[in-house]
Amino acid sequence: MKKIAKGFGFGIIVAVIGLLIFGAVNRTIAMNEEETLPGSESAEYAAPAAGNEIAVSSNETDAISEHDTLSTPIALLPLGELNQAEIDALLYMREEEKLARDVYLFLASQWGLPAFSNIASSEQTHMDLLLELINRYDLNDSASAETGVFNNAELQALYNQLIAQGSISAEEAFKVGAAIEEIDILDLQVRLSETDQQDIQQVFDTLIQGSYNHLNAFAGNLSNRFDIVYTPQYISNDLFQQILSTETGGSVSGFGNSSRSGQGGGGNGTN
Ligand code: ZN
Ligand code: ZN
Repeated sequence: MKKIAKGFGFGIIVAVIGLLIFGAVNRTIAMNEEETLPGSESAEYAAPAAGNEIAVSSNETDAISEHDTLSTPIALLPLGELNQAEIDALLYMREEEKLARDVYLFLASQWGLPAFSNIASSEQTHMDLLLELINRYDLNDSASAETGVFNNAELQALYNQLIAQGSISAEEAFKVGAAIEEIDILDLQVRLSETDQQDIQQVFDTLIQGSYNHLNAFAGNLSNRFDIVYTPQYISNDLFQQILSTETGGSVSGFGNSSRSGQGGGGNGTN
């Protein structure tokens, strides 16, 4: 009996030693594997702080500008070589963001509503981000320094039409704002899908998130002030509903980090 117990005990000790060695070897292998894995980049797009911009209160759009910050400074991202489509995209979007800013500045002075001046300053940061890219690639920023003046004839015509419509009533002004954001989202999505430059992708992604928040704010104002249910004029109703239901817009774009690699991502109802 004693012998058996002793033998049994010895067996356990051997087994334990064996397990320890096995475990140590496993850990070593695991560590080595970890080292060779591509660093788990935590360059996630900072989830904007939860804040409901729909609420019509004194701070209705206070949280908007904090959505406009990049997770990685542009200078830290690889400098590539741009093709003509990418160059055109930067210059065009710079003027389109200017269109948004200039229309909102006009509507802010027309109606004295804080939503327009707050969102106009958000558009200024969008313009600044594009200018940073334009300068980074030594391109010529052709956007006019004058408010309400555009090189692109279509954008000029659109500006004229939108400020005329937005002058009719505050209600029309909010509809103008929503329309601008819809157009902005579509134009950014198309251009985002046509570039593989990380710096451009990050900026366009940030601008899309900004537009989601702005669209949310305009639709919220229409609902709260005028009891109007806004229906999208350009983007799909499917995408619009997702934007409305996602406070921070984090998962709505479909262009987050994980789906980015698959270029054609963002297949959630944009057509
Ligand atoms: Zn914008
Ligand atoms: Zn906007």
